Amino acid sequence: MKTACPIELTKEPKIAYFSMEIGIQNDIPTYSGGLGVLAGDTIRTAADLQLPMVAVTLLTKKGYFIQELDDAGRQREHPYSWDPSKHMVLLPTRVAVTIEGRDVLVQAWQYTVTSLTQGCVPLFFLDTDIEENAPEDRQITHCLYGGDEAYRLKQEIVLGIGGVRMLHELGFEIKKYHMNEGHSSLLTLELLNRFKRPIEDVWDEKLVWDVERVKDLCVFTTHTPIEAGHDRFSYDLVVRILGEIVPLKVLKELGGADSLNMTRLGLNLSKFINGVAKKHGEVSRNMFPGYEISAITNGVHSYTWTCDSFKRLYDKYLPGWANEPELFVRVTRIPKSEIWDAHMEAKNALLSFVLRTAGVRMDPDVLTIGFARRATAYKRADLIFSDVERLRRIGSGKIQIVFAGKAHPKDDLGKKLIQKIFSVRERLKGVITIVYLTNYDMNIALTMVSGVDLWLNTPLRPREASGTSGMKAVHNGVPNFSVLDGWWIEGHIEGWTGWSIGPHPVETSLVENVDSRDADDLYDKLEQIIIPLYYDNRPAWIEMMQNAIGMNAYYFNSHRMMRRYVTEAYIR
Ligand SMILES: *Cc1c(COP(=O)(O)O)cnc(C)c1O
Repeated sequence: MKTACPIELTKEPKIAYFSMEIGIQNDIPTYSGGLGVLAGDTIRTAADLQLPMVAVTLLTKKGYFIQELDDAGRQREHPYSWDPSKHMVLLPTRVAVTIEGRDVLVQAWQYTVTSLTQGCVPLFFLDTDIEENAPEDRQITHCLYGGDEAYRLKQEIVLGIGGVRMLHELGFEIKKYHMNEGHSSLLTLELLNRFKRPIEDVWDEKLVWDVERVKDLCVFTTHTPIEAGHDRFSYDLVVRILGEIVPLKVLKELGGADSLNMTRLGLNLSKFINGVAKKHGEVSRNMFPGYEISAITNGVHSYTWTCDSFKRLYDKYLPGWANEPELFVRVTRIPKSEIWDAHMEAKNALLSFVLRTAGVRMDPDVLTIGFARRATAYKRADLIFSDVERLRRIGSGKIQIVFAGKAHPKDDLGKKLIQKIFSVRERLKGVITIVYLTNYDMNIALTMVSGVDLWLNTPLRPREASGTSGMKAVHNGVPNFSVLDGWWIEGHIEGWTGWSIGPHPVETSLVENVDSRDADDLYDKLEQIIIPLYYDNRPAWIEMMQNAIGMNAYYFNSHRMMRRYVTEAYIR
């Protein structure tokens, strides 16, 4: 049935963007963090730029999870319940995928992203919760990053294989398939099957599988800078659940000899491969020698990640900025006093949100530091607490800190980190105000990145493939104070756009991380440079805010990113 998809949507060949998670709006909880928010920004930008794109993801009816924290910071998880029919339209079209030998039906919900520029990107949420399916199959699209390996593989079958079939059934002609991370790599197998052709008189089996044709169609973005982070499945599991969609011998050549590595599969079947920052491209080339890996540094969707007060300011002084973020280069046209006023409006909005949700009164005149991201060990949320007494001496009455972030339900170290922050909060009570906002989501992200004075990031190098929350901060004139990793290696100009923490990155290994050295640098700069500048030289501080906008937001936006995807990956 093609009627549900307006004819004008299918008339032009499309770029099909596949992502396990997509953060398209705050109350559609089909995302967990950076990967999904980037996917949302990609789609919003494609609509702004009127790119011929469609996107595919899973419905995840129970979302990631709702975070509850008790007084000690212990996390409990609850499922979301949300009603897709409030946001999207269920299409009558169904396709089937084979899972454990059973036919599993897949349906799709259509959400349409539209832009003021008249651009439009249909987004399809795949859903197996259909009466005709076996009870266990109905749950395949319920939980994002939940369940065991088998569950994950089933989800990836629905996403990759089901997604290609669904687009085909809906009448789309696809000119590129863009895999946002390896979760959707199985789509390459569906394409291999579609294009297989027996070649007479040629006995080499590989030639029957038109690898080159599939490669021409596929674009792969990797986001994972460490070996253990890549999805891998044992071939026993693969054969049991997926069956031999292509002969095992062929699959092993493409996906790895010992286990099916979804990144390797994507790499072997994509002509264009990229990492998400220059450094990450380098790290990826070391991890996967022999592949040509480019780097297109991530960006964020400027309009989405700018708070109301700065939107008004940009509209006044830089009209057209939302669809042409290059205009940020003219930021010095905005009077300093108006930048400060817009910032204080955002800061007061954050502080009233904090008061409302956490019951804590913070001081609008105190330097406010923000730290929000997934609570997981490598992000080192506790680096600033390496020496609590030193922090007390430096920051007493001079700083306050807002934290947020969820730990994956199975990440015990991540959960411990949250508890540690809670215990330091008690220890510093009355000296340094610390709050932890629960249930970090896109709304809280915008409130925080715009409402704090300084955005802190202290990951273990080179684990931060790109990082995007710091890019959101700069759109609101908030400078970064961050370890030199990911995008910040490119965006950082010391004492100009913000400040670095720790040494310059010289190599791609993990050994160069010394927590104490990073912490020392953090404390030194906070004490000697940042705190004095904030309190004693406000005009210079506002100049840093302008630089964050004019030199960082100017570049680290998804309009620049998507134009590069178009010229380097999509139309080549
Ligand atoms: C932007 C964003 C992230 C990603 O932030 P990083 O700095 O890349 O870790 C995660 N979660 C939410 C809700 C976001 O808005």
